[in-house]
Amino acid sequence: MRKPDAIYLLPRVSNAGSFNTKMNHHNYLGSDILVPQKPSQLVTIFDMSYPERTDIPPEVSITSPVTMLPGFHSTWTSRLAKLHLHTIGDLLFFFPRDYQCFAERVELDTLPREETEVSVQGTITEIRGGRTRFGKSIFTITLQCGNTLLTATWFSMPYLKKKYQVSDSVLLSGKVKPKKTGKKWEMTHPRIVLLEEDQQATGGEVLPIYPLTQGLTQATMQRIVRLAVEHYADQLEEVLPESLRTKKGVISITTAVKHIHCPESLAEAEASRFRFIYQELLVLQLALALRRWQLAATSKAPELETDARIHARITSRFPFTLTSAQQHVVQEITEDMASSRPMNRLLQGDVGSGKTVVAEYAMLLCVAHQHQAVLMAPTEILAQQHFQTLSRDLQQSRVTIALLTGSMKTAERKQVLADVEAGEIDLLIGTHSLASDQLNFKSLALVVIDEQHKFGVRQRLAVRKTGFDPHYLVMSATPIPRTIAMGLFADLDISTIRSGPDHQQPVHTYLGTAEQREPWWKFFRKKLREGRQGFVIAAIIDQETNEELQSVERIYQQLQNGILSDFRIAVVHGKLPAEEKKQTMQKFADHELDVIVATSVVEVGVNVPNASLMTIEDAQQFGLAQLHQFRGRIRRGHHPGYICVFASPNNPDAVERLETFVKTLDGFELAEADFKMRGPGDLFGTKQHGLPPLRIANLHRDRMILEQARDDALALIEDDPGLQSLELIRLRKQVLRRYGKVLDVGDVG
Ligand code: ADP
Ligand code: MG
Repeated sequence: MRKPDAIYLLPRVSNAGSFNTKMNHHNYLGSDILVPQKPSQLVTIFDMSYPERTDIPPEVSITSPVTMLPGFHSTWTSRLAKLHLHTIGDLLFFFPRDYQCFAERVELDTLPREETEVSVQGTITEIRGGRTRFGKSIFTITLQCGNTLLTATWFSMPYLKKKYQVSDSVLLSGKVKPKKTGKKWEMTHPRIVLLEEDQQATGGEVLPIYPLTQGLTQATMQRIVRLAVEHYADQLEEVLPESLRTKKGVISITTAVKHIHCPESLAEAEASRFRFIYQELLVLQLALALRRWQLAATSKAPELETDARIHARITSRFPFTLTSAQQHVVQEITEDMASSRPMNRLLQGDVGSGKTVVAEYAMLLCVAHQHQAVLMAPTEILAQQHFQTLSRDLQQSRVTIALLTGSMKTAERKQVLADVEAGEIDLLIGTHSLASDQLNFKSLALVVIDEQHKFGVRQRLAVRKTGFDPHYLVMSATPIPRTIAMGLFADLDISTIRSGPDHQQPVHTYLGTAEQREPWWKFFRKKLREGRQGFVIAAIIDQETNEELQSVERIYQQLQNGILSDFRIAVVHGKLPAEEKKQTMQKFADHELDVIVATSVVEVGVNVPNASLMTIEDAQQFGLAQLHQFRGRIRRGHHPGYICVFASPNNPDAVERLETFVKTLDGFELAEADFKMRGPGDLFGTKQHGLPPLRIANLHRDRMILEQARDDALALIEDDPGLQSLELIRLRKQVLRRYGKVLDVGDVG
C-alpha cells in the first residue's frame, strides 16, 4: 500500500482556509486571512508516527546536526542540505511558506445543504482525465462517501492523475454543493490528501506547507520538522526581554516555534508568525540603530560651520540660483557638516533634479575650511562630466580640481595621487574604482558618492586616517519607497529633492504596439531632421546571448540599412573598449552623431541636452527604475522628450509594469508602484542595501509591524545605547551575529 503522501498545494479557487506568505496574496495584518469559522475540533489527521523518544543522548542540542534526530533517515541529509538545513536548530527556524486547512469533516449522507469549507472522506470509485473544449486539462474523480456519490473536478492539474487511483481513500476539503443534475454532490478544486486505508480523518487540521527540494515530499518534510519540534523546541533560549514581550503580547519562543510548525488553528500560526516577523524586524532595526549610534560614538569629523560670507562665496560660483528644494537640502547638509558627528546622508532626487550642485556646495564648504573633498561617480563618462561642470564653475578661483580615472596613464595617476597626498588638490573626482585604492589625503573632510544604485550605499572609501573621519554624502536617482527607507536605511539620514529646476522638459511616453512601429519611426526621423538626437536602447549586445531579443548589433544593422540610413548612427555597449565608448559619446555630445544604439550603459550620466528621442526595444527586460533612468536622459535640454517602449505583449506582468511607466512621470511615485508590484527585490535588492535577506518578514506586507519594531528599537537604544543591560544581552548577541559583519557594528563597551 502506498504511504499517505504530500499534501498538494492546489492553486486557490478562493482564499478560504489558507494564507500565503508571498506578497500581494494575503495581507497578513489585514482581515483577509480566513480563520476557520467554527472552532474546529482538532484531531490529527495523520498519525505521524516515529519512534518514541527513548535514547536521545543528553549532549544533543539544537546546534547538533540533523542526523542526530531520532528516526532520521540518512538519505535526508543531502536533501536537507540543499535547503541549507544542517542543524536541528535550522529545522526549527525553517518556517512554513503557507498552511493548508482541512475544514471539519461532515457526512455527505446527512448534509442538508451546500457548505463552504468542509472536509469529506471517501473512496475513489472512478477517475477520468481529459481536456476541455478550450484545451485545458481536466481531471475528475468520483468519490463514494457513505451512500452518497461526489464528483470532484480540477482543471489544468494533469499531474494529479499520477497521484491517485481507484479505491484510494482520500480527504477532500473545500466548498461542496449539489450537482445541478441528480442528487450527487460536487466540489471544484478541493484540497485533496491521500489517507491510509483504515484511517479515519476528522478534519480541522492546519498543515504547514514547506519549501521543498527534489526527493523530499511535503509529508516527509512535515515529519522531519515535527521531529525536531517535538524533541528540541523546549531547548530554545528566549531572546526577547520579558518586559518587551509583555508589552507587545508576544508569545514565548518555545510556544512560537511549536505553533508555527504544528498549529491547531490558523490563529495560532498567525500569533507565532507575528512573533517571528516582529523579532526579525526588531533585530534589523536594532542593528541599524546600533550602527548609527556607534558611528556617532566612535568617529569624529571636522566641524565645518557655514556663515553668510561662506554661503555667498560658494553660491556666487553657480551659474543659477538654487531652487528652494536645493536650498532646503543644502540647509540639512550644512547642519550635519557643522557637527563633529560624521554626516551619513543619502540625497535622493529624480534624474535631473539638480543634485550635483548640492554636492558641489558641500565640497566647496570643505575647501572654505582648508579641507579636501572627493566625489566618486559610477562611470568614467560621468566622472568626466562632473569634472567639467566643476572646472567650469570654478574658473579663475584658487580651488584645485583633479580627475582620477582607470584609463589614465600610470605616471599621470601617480602624480595626481601625490598631489592629493600633499594637499595640493582640493577636490578629487573619480570613478568608484577609487574605493579599491588606498588613498592618502592630506585632510579629507567629505566623501560624495554619486548614483549609488550602481554600488552599495554603505560603501566606504579606504582612506588613511588623518585625525578625523570624513562626512559622507550619497546621492541616488532611485527614490527609496518610504517603507524601504525605514526598514533598510534607518542608519542613514535621508534628504529628498522632490521637484527639479523649472526648465525640465516634459517627456511624452508611449507604449508602442507592432502597428505603431512605422509611424513612430517616421516621427523619429522627422525630429532628427529638425536637429534633435536620439537613443535606441536594446537589452542585449549581440544575438548570441538570446535569439528572442533584439540586440544592439541587429538593431544597428536594421536602422543603418533601413529607415535611418541617411543619419549618422553608432553603437555603445559594455564590450567596447573604454576609449572607443568615450569617443563615441563625445561625438554624440558634439552632434557629430544623430543616433546612438546602446545597452543600459547609457542609463547613468549621459548629458546630451539636445537628445530628446528614445526608442526602447524589449522593454520588458528592464526594471521600472532603470526605464525611468533612461527617460531621464532625454529631458535635459530645451526640447520636449519623446520615448516609445516596445515589448513582447505575451507577458502580462511586464505589460502592467510598462503601463505604469507610461502613466507615471514622477520617479517617487514610480518607485512606490514598482515596490507594490514586485516588492523590494528589484529596486533595492540585497546588492543595493548589502544586508542579508529577510527570512519571514516582508517589508511591504509587514509595514505596520516594521513601524512598531522601529519605535521599539529606538526606545531600547535610547535607554541603553550599547544594548549592554543583562536583559538585552541575548538580543544584542543575535543582532551582532546577524548584522555585525555586514553593518560593521561590533562589541564596543
Ligand atoms: P541630477 O540630480 O540628475 O544629478 P543635475 O545635477 O545633473 O541632476 O542637474 C540637471 C540639470 O539641471 C543640469 O543641467 C543642471 O545644470 C541644471 N540645474 C540644476 N540646478 C539648477 C537650478 N537651480 N536652476 C537651473 N538649472 C539647474
Ligand atoms: Mg547626477
